[in-house]
Amino acid sequence: MKYLSTRGGMRPSAFQDILIEGLAPDGGLTVPERYPPVTLADLEAWRSLGYADLAFRVLAPFADDIPAVDLRRILRDSYSSETFGAEEITPVLALEPDLHLLRLSFGPTLAFKDVAMQLLGNLFQYVLERRKSSLNILGATSGDTGSSAEQAMLGKTNVRVFMLSPHGAMSAFQRAQMYTLDEPNIFNLAVRGVFDDCQDIVKAIGEDAEFKARFRIGAVNSINWARVAAQIVYYFKAYLRVAKRVGDAVSFAVPSGNFGNVLAGHIARSMGLPVHQLIVATNENDVLDEFFRTGIYRPRPTNQVYRTSSPSMDISKASNFERFVYDLVDRDPGRVRMLWKQLRNQGYFDLSGSGGPDTVRKFGFVSGKSTHADRLATIQSVHRHYGVLVDPHTADGLKVGCERRDPSVPLICLETALPVKFEETIKQALGRAPERPPGFENLEAKPMHFEVVDPDPDAIRRYIERHVPGA
Ligand SMILES: *Cc1c(COP(=O)(O)O)cnc(C)c1O
Repeated sequence: MKYLSTRGGMRPSAFQDILIEGLAPDGGLTVPERYPPVTLADLEAWRSLGYADLAFRVLAPFADDIPAVDLRRILRDSYSSETFGAEEITPVLALEPDLHLLRLSFGPTLAFKDVAMQLLGNLFQYVLERRKSSLNILGATSGDTGSSAEQAMLGKTNVRVFMLSPHGAMSAFQRAQMYTLDEPNIFNLAVRGVFDDCQDIVKAIGEDAEFKARFRIGAVNSINWARVAAQIVYYFKAYLRVAKRVGDAVSFAVPSGNFGNVLAGHIARSMGLPVHQLIVATNENDVLDEFFRTGIYRPRPTNQVYRTSSPSMDISKASNFERFVYDLVDRDPGRVRMLWKQLRNQGYFDLSGSGGPDTVRKFGFVSGKSTHADRLATIQSVHRHYGVLVDPHTADGLKVGCERRDPSVPLICLETALPVKFEETIKQALGRAPERPPGFENLEAKPMHFEVVDPDPDAIRRYIERHVPGA
């Protein structure tokens, strides 16, 4: 399998060569040259597989430059009961006969990002060992990504993590999840500023080709292809659990921000998984809902992003969206280049006149949005009716999913985090804090390790220089 850029300006590359890169060299995103087809007979044969073996069947064609024995071992290491707390890696919970919750949040940091990040950590280690190289990851986080990446890189001697977070702006629980780590390869830098300052620093250093090469700077942000690929697996897993007969259709509802999670659903559907609807749920930051309703894609300036009670979906632009648009325009890189040029020049592009909405329907997409009041009401009603406590992001997905679903088709809602990560909103909805899973009881009381730094790329460069030996 070769990988191309959505903008056409990258020579076809193998999986291992795009694994560690962020953007393609031409500013586009990397995409596989085709989606490997899966037949109903394949699905039937996969029904009895455990998660790691299913992941092997789904992912092997995307990573065919990794020998099968190695890939199998990497997947078994990544998806073990020790890491995910139970024998079943992403269990499905039936709320009603035709309404299900796909539970993705039992990894080390209690959010769905662990499912992809655990694999990414092991893939990095594998490729770096074979190349006798090492990597310094520089990232910015507003909450979930940072701790998920750090947990995935624990004990990996050829990877260091420099993670920038906004000083004082994360929830106490999220802060403690990162800062209580005391590991020689993890560096937590609390930036005097907001999340955008952190991201600007990462961008500035990413554009400094000389520094980037000298210090082997890598990224783990949500446009990383391997993260998207890893997420395809649980769509198959959930389908095989819920569909009564192979070939029956199901629908998925996905709380969305950077469009990585639901993009994986689109790819599963494109490979042949019988998916009826892909329901995109946004919060008040409704860039994606606007597109799926009108055909107009209009990212917001960062100062117009609302701070909401589902903060992991507070985005100004959906960074993975370009991969979907590439499919939408029949994989024509010239059109993608033109659309992103319009985006730069006029701040939006409009596909409403060129068959966009029809094609969107052909791909099964519908969308909706959810507000703070909706989140509280959904958390309450799901708790009352089913005795299940969901987090604010999952509540957005359930709310929009139930509103937009086709009632004749089973619906699977993706759970993206556990409620304990967002205690304040749960208290507001139910008048009490959620119970903490074992091991997290006194998290905030443990000693914290982080350094407060100025929002200045040079200060971060110097910090990296001091902490990377021999560069
Ligand atoms: C990252 C995240 C999302 C958004 O996922 P995307 O792949 O960016 O669309 C939703 N919920 C939670 C809890 C997250 O951490």
